[in-house]
Amino acid sequence: MWDKTTHDRVELNSSVRYLRGVGERRAEALARLGVLTIEDILLFFPRRYEDRRRLTPLDELRPGESVCAVAEVLALAIPEGPAPASALLSDGRAAVRAVWFNPHIGRVLKPGVRVALFGRVEYYNGIQLSNPEFEVLTDQPPQLVGRIIPIYPAAASLSQKRIQSLVDDVFKTYGDRLVDVLPAKIRKKYGMKGFREAVHELHHPSDARSWVKARNRLAFDELFLLQAGLLLRRASASAQRSVRSLSTGKHFEQFMKSLPFPLTRAQTRAIEEILEAMRGMRAMNRLLQGDVGSGKTLVALAAVLAAVDSGAQAVLMAPTGILAQQHYMTLHRLLAPLGICVGLLTGSLRAEERRTLLADLQAGELQVLVGTHAVFAEKVSFADLGLVVVDEQHRFGVLQKNALIAKGTAPHVLVMTATPIPRTLVLSVYGDLDVSVLDELPPGRKPVRTLSMKPEEEGALLTLIRTRVCLGQQVYWVCPLIEDSEEGRADLSSVSSCCERLAKLLPGVRIEMLHGRLPMEEKIAAMRRFAEGEIDLLVATAVIEVGMDVPNATLMVIEDAGQFGLAQLHQLRGRVGRGEAESLCVLLEGQETTPEGRERIEAMLHLSDGFALAEADLKQRGPGEVCGVRQHGVTDFRVANLMRDHKILDLARREAQSLLREDPALDTEPLFRAALMRRLGKTLQLAGTA
Ligand code: ADP
Ligand code: MG
Repeated sequence: MWDKTTHDRVELNSSVRYLRGVGERRAEALARLGVLTIEDILLFFPRRYEDRRRLTPLDELRPGESVCAVAEVLALAIPEGPAPASALLSDGRAAVRAVWFNPHIGRVLKPGVRVALFGRVEYYNGIQLSNPEFEVLTDQPPQLVGRIIPIYPAAASLSQKRIQSLVDDVFKTYGDRLVDVLPAKIRKKYGMKGFREAVHELHHPSDARSWVKARNRLAFDELFLLQAGLLLRRASASAQRSVRSLSTGKHFEQFMKSLPFPLTRAQTRAIEEILEAMRGMRAMNRLLQGDVGSGKTLVALAAVLAAVDSGAQAVLMAPTGILAQQHYMTLHRLLAPLGICVGLLTGSLRAEERRTLLADLQAGELQVLVGTHAVFAEKVSFADLGLVVVDEQHRFGVLQKNALIAKGTAPHVLVMTATPIPRTLVLSVYGDLDVSVLDELPPGRKPVRTLSMKPEEEGALLTLIRTRVCLGQQVYWVCPLIEDSEEGRADLSSVSSCCERLAKLLPGVRIEMLHGRLPMEEKIAAMRRFAEGEIDLLVATAVIEVGMDVPNATLMVIEDAGQFGLAQLHQLRGRVGRGEAESLCVLLEGQETTPEGRERIEAMLHLSDGFALAEADLKQRGPGEVCGVRQHGVTDFRVANLMRDHKILDLARREAQSLLREDPALDTEPLFRAALMRRLGKTLQLAGTA
């Protein structure tokens, strides 16, 4: 199929264009399926299989079934005009009719010819096979029946048959170039199939047990590679830098004594775990998971105080300007009385202020910095960065955080999230993180009642708003605008027109708006006025998703709720239910809510626990999307499934740990190391390790 010279030059990572029979159009169709190279074809696995091993005798055909059969053509009828062509077939036990809408079948089907057939049995004036696929039998084994047929992900312009034969041909020619990089020790220990054999088994399974073995072997490969990559990253990070042990002192003691409420048990436990890790000689790398309102800020503050007490600096990073602002105000209020200097760095800072701030930071006069992405900028340098806290991690990419970590000699890192990430995901995506959990809300919190309303029920909703406002309570109204971080592209006119419309419908109610495009001072002013009760109804975009903490707000209205993601809806709902009064969240359906949107609304109506919602989210969107790492491809597995492969993941992690313990530079496994660098080196920033 390929001439010798081409064949020798082609490598596994050569473009599919090198293959004979793959022109520009086919290459494009393949690219849409994510298949770019020859290796991609070899590892392009079936979506499902059709078991065509069993042949059905013609006297056992039942309408509605898909069957395989082998029979001889007794007679043919090819009418003129639109009626279908038909053949009478017999296998010696019964005779049955098959019909095709293709008049050309007479060219291949002749009386006396033996054929293999695969198709659907229907009842239409008797039993018949409707439009079956067929293959004229020769002395070769049939392709169509008698085996398990792989069915590949479809592409409009590439027929299933084409893909099947392409995969088979490529495997015949290039299959022997697939190299097994998995350490032989591990392969032997678990009696795994060889790599090439496993790949072949996925394309052409011999039986169910053998297929499962092959599939698990390949899933193990993927998870093992990722785990080893993450462990390597962790090792190289702590090897390059000296770690600073941080411990609490007088500021911390003083602060804890001044707290107006007792810590929850979960907070106490998390703080102990974090402080213990920060005292250690290895850089802390810890995830703090806690549902919305569980009091993560306070836990972070304890860590910040440990840094300050040890003479180091701390930075707290937030995904939006508004949240950064809110954190800044909280930290400033709590820390200034202790004589601790706190600064705020966002993209909207004026040049002059920015210069002063950066100078103070570099001189070490500023002990605590709060900021947005702006803290990533190259010009930002610290005198002695000891702790990095990343709030609402779900809004950042995992890898972005590395840029900040590189700024300290060996800062301890605490990332916080309200999106409870299932353990399998934490292990596979973050791999190198320890976890603390706040599984308890401060006492006195009442669950938020949630209901959905149709746009035509607006009258009732307006009454609800008036009632709440009369009681002296406050209301959020969220407009469905996609807005990412503070530089978001909000359609301002629709926020303001929504605001105007509500002002007309609700005379006497004090309404203001808040969105990402407002100048920082105006955002701050609006937030302050709302916090101080000078505004009754705040019309906002999802910028308020994180950070707003106003206990007197008891009603959250989310317009066209189906447009938001589950994590986002959960966060938004978490803005209410923070005080004594019973709170309510109204999910307004849009004019055209998609089925997925509808599903998310349903999930919100039934689930209040963030963990259950995260699981639902994971099912809908997949793990990469949920963790914000999709674009990095870390979780784009071909075979492994994070939702199901818990056991394999644990095994892969244990084996990766033991391999790297014995051979930290992977010197004994050069093939595996090369594969690791090729696949993950760049994403995990492992340069220099190779
Ligand atoms: P989140 O985990 O969502 O970031 P916050 O840290 O914003 O939660 O805390 C939510 C609210 O709960 C804040 O108003 C905070 O002051 C309050 N809070 C935190 N811890 C406690 C506690 N132990 N007892 C009572 N209120 C608390
Ligand atoms: Mg928070």
